Amino acid sequence: MWKRVFLFVVLLLGVRESMLLPDGRLHLHILDVGQGDAIFMVTPKGKQILIDGGPDLSTLSHLGKLMPFFDRSIDLIVLTHSDADHITALPEVLRRFHIDTILLSGRLGNSGSVDALLAALQESDTTIITANPQEDLSLDGVVLDVIWPTADAIANNRFSNNNLSVVVRIVYNDHEILLTGDIEKSAEDAILASGVDIQSDILKVAHHGSRTSSSTGFLLAVHPDIALISVGRDNQYGHPHPSVLDRFHALGIPIKTTAEEGVISLEFR
Ligand SMILES: [Zn+2]
Repeated sequence: MWKRVFLFVVLLLGVRESMLLPDGRLHLHILDVGQGDAIFMVTPKGKQILIDGGPDLSTLSHLGKLMPFFDRSIDLIVLTHSDADHITALPEVLRRFHIDTILLSGRLGNSGSVDALLAALQESDTTIITANPQEDLSLDGVVLDVIWPTADAIANNRFSNNNLSVVVRIVYNDHEILLTGDIEKSAEDAILASGVDIQSDILKVAHHGSRTSSSTGFLLAVHPDIALISVGRDNQYGHPHPSVLDRFHALGIPIKTTAEEGVISLEFR
């Protein structure tokens, strides 16, 4: 009897593991972490990228479901900015997994979470790089086109930490995915003024659909086929704001939210 149960468990584990093997497609998962951001990507050859670590440790259980059982390493973490709803699980992720590289904004801010992250980094051999639009990253054919923040923006005290969120445009074959952290209108305007190409099929909406983000000019320049919002059910901030939803509707851009759908998973050939 026990032998049969054991064989059944091994078989199930085998089926699960085979489904998590690289399949030649780029996978994007907007994790359902409540009111916050955490995004997990797997490249066509199986490299893994985690963008932000949510408001609590729920990112860890998502990674447990999406990563092979014996896989204890992640190739790249991107921390868009250090607000609690983006950073919280990352010190623990650093303790539990070997992280090859972490990409940070040039201004991190001060908080207990930042201290915990820096302490975890100090005990690791993770390579730390700061976002620089002059230096894009590439992981087996998937380009991370770093859009923002510029060195000038970091040096200029005009921008809040939200507005210094790392903005990355993922480019793979003829697909583009724009990840915007929590930037607001002033960063959107500066990005537009720089003339950089931000047109993308998929837009991860900035700042959980706050009314201080997603200005019409920015949405026209991105011109996405679909917009994804990472947001908690019945959150205290009223995200996503009705006026922002109206703006997307007026432009004919469909929206999916993690509050309504749970984890949003897309794949690209
Ligand atoms: Zn946020």
